[in-house]
Amino acid sequence: MKKILILLGPPGAGKGTVGAHLARQWGIPLISSGDLLRESVRNSTELGQQARQFMVRGQLVPDRLVLGLIGQRLARTDAAGGFILDGFPRTAAQAEALSQLLDEENFRVIYLKASDDFLVERLSNRRVCELCGAIFHLINIPPRQPGVCDSCGGRLIQRDDDQPEVIRNRLAVYHEQTTPLLNYYRQAGRLTEVSGERPLQETLETIQQQCPW
Ligand code: AMP
Repeated sequence: MKKILILLGPPGAGKGTVGAHLARQWGIPLISSGDLLRESVRNSTELGQQARQFMVRGQLVPDRLVLGLIGQRLARTDAAGGFILDGFPRTAAQAEALSQLLDEENFRVIYLKASDDFLVERLSNRRVCELCGAIFHLINIPPRQPGVCDSCGGRLIQRDDDQPEVIRNRLAVYHEQTTPLLNYYRQAGRLTEVSGERPLQETLETIQQQCPW
């Protein structure tokens, strides 16, 4: 059975951290639309230049840009045996496009749920490695050496959009545009709700129990 997992939830709920652990364990890629977009911005591709203006404000990048990027990534051979999606889909149009792509696949959707206050605190303390993208939290998952990535020795930075005003905007955009997807997948019988506020190990075990593979 192909392992296909969609991680839904607000920014900061833990999709990236949880996804990275499960992807390593299951031997499948973690595909993050945010990471793909940030890479395009770093490489200053035409798409990256267009996407950047939305990302710095915490707004969603237009569907046509994101769909092209995700379509190309899912077509790569390493995704043939399954994949975990983080941050995609985020709009009804993206969910529709994904349904077409997934066709008859037996995929699962996990909704990582957390309150806004909890998320603002977690995102303000988040640091990411500028080289490998590993995620840390200054209090809960601190790096062994301050400012240095445990995995690759890269520099830890605060994402531009992890500043308080931008965080609040991202949460507002999430509530408005992405929350409706919960019902879409709930009605399709694919959604499981899991707390994103629990310790990582507990969250991973709960998700593993929900997946049929
Ligand atoms: P993330 O890393 O998932 O928090 O995404 C960071 C930013 O990238 C978001 O605030 C959006 O500007 C953009 N982005 C990521 N994924 C999507 C998506 N599926 N649709 C539209 N914009 C996205």
